[in-house]
Amino acid sequence: MPDVRIKTPNLDDIFNKWKQKALRQDKKKMEKEFGTKGAMFSLDAISAAEYVKDTMKEAAIYFAIKKSLGPAPKGKDENLVIASRVGKEQFYSFKGAGKIDKEEWKGDEKVPQFESIQAVPCKNCRGKGYIEDKCKSCKGTGKIEETFTVLVGEEQNKEKKQFSYPCGVCYGSGNRSETCKECGGHKNMYKYDTLPVPFKTVVTGVPILHSSAQTKYEKEIGDDLHKMIEDVEGIKFNDFKALESKAEASLGYINKNINKTIGAAKSDYRKSEKDKNAQITTQIYLFPMIQMFCQTKRGSKFEIYSLGSGNKFMTYSNF
Ligand SMILES: [Zn+2]
Ligand SMILES: [Zn+2]
Repeated sequence: MPDVRIKTPNLDDIFNKWKQKALRQDKKKMEKEFGTKGAMFSLDAISAAEYVKDTMKEAAIYFAIKKSLGPAPKGKDENLVIASRVGKEQFYSFKGAGKIDKEEWKGDEKVPQFESIQAVPCKNCRGKGYIEDKCKSCKGTGKIEETFTVLVGEEQNKEKKQFSYPCGVCYGSGNRSETCKECGGHKNMYKYDTLPVPFKTVVTGVPILHSSAQTKYEKEIGDDLHKMIEDVEGIKFNDFKALESKAEASLGYINKNINKTIGAAKSDYRKSEKDKNAQITTQIYLFPMIQMFCQTKRGSKFEIYSLGSGNKFMTYSNF
């Protein structure tokens, strides 16, 4: 376990490294902001002492993980609905579309798939769409029977006589067809599956960076470290317990934000440890970070950050 203090880069070194990089990137801007009228432009004349107004000592924590972004949870959910509800569902189709990039996918990991739609004959009406029953009006006879009282002969004796006519409800058939309540008369019910989106399985390296300096470069710094961790010197730890107990001794300073940053990085680390799809592939690095607040003679304000030790560090700037 490292017990020695890491040497933070001194301000002049950081400033010199930055100004050379800035000159390579945008010479015109350097001349405009730092040049003197009538004098030859020279980097030597631009010193930290003159332009750095304030500095802060911060820290950054880095580790990398390998993440496999794989297929969504397996299995399917079956749905059974009446015909008129099939169209209410949003269907997806991946037929001939190849594997899907999970990072680009907008939507659920399991979705209803169009090709899975199947007609299932209604069990209630056995696929007929209606239920046959006896006509209630004629009790299935097809006839309406009435008894008339008829007056017979001169005496007009009352006699009962039967009279019948076809039932108007069943048109004389005695049967009645009722729309099946289950399938709504559509004969079939419809089945479809909610299936996992066919994602590609990709294993990607993911840099995790936390810094106590409020910078917008965290992503850029993380990506850089991922590519060239050997170009920057930090202190390596095997676990957060060691890092927490040695952080101040190693950096030679500590502050509230650094402690907060350690806490945030630690919770990310724990999450990665628990994530079945993730694997931590590096040790934990603690880097000194210097934040310099600068101002040119023309009044332009900018910041320079250094990450790493006096031996090996990188610079970033919003100049
Ligand atoms: Zn039915
Ligand atoms: Zn009838």
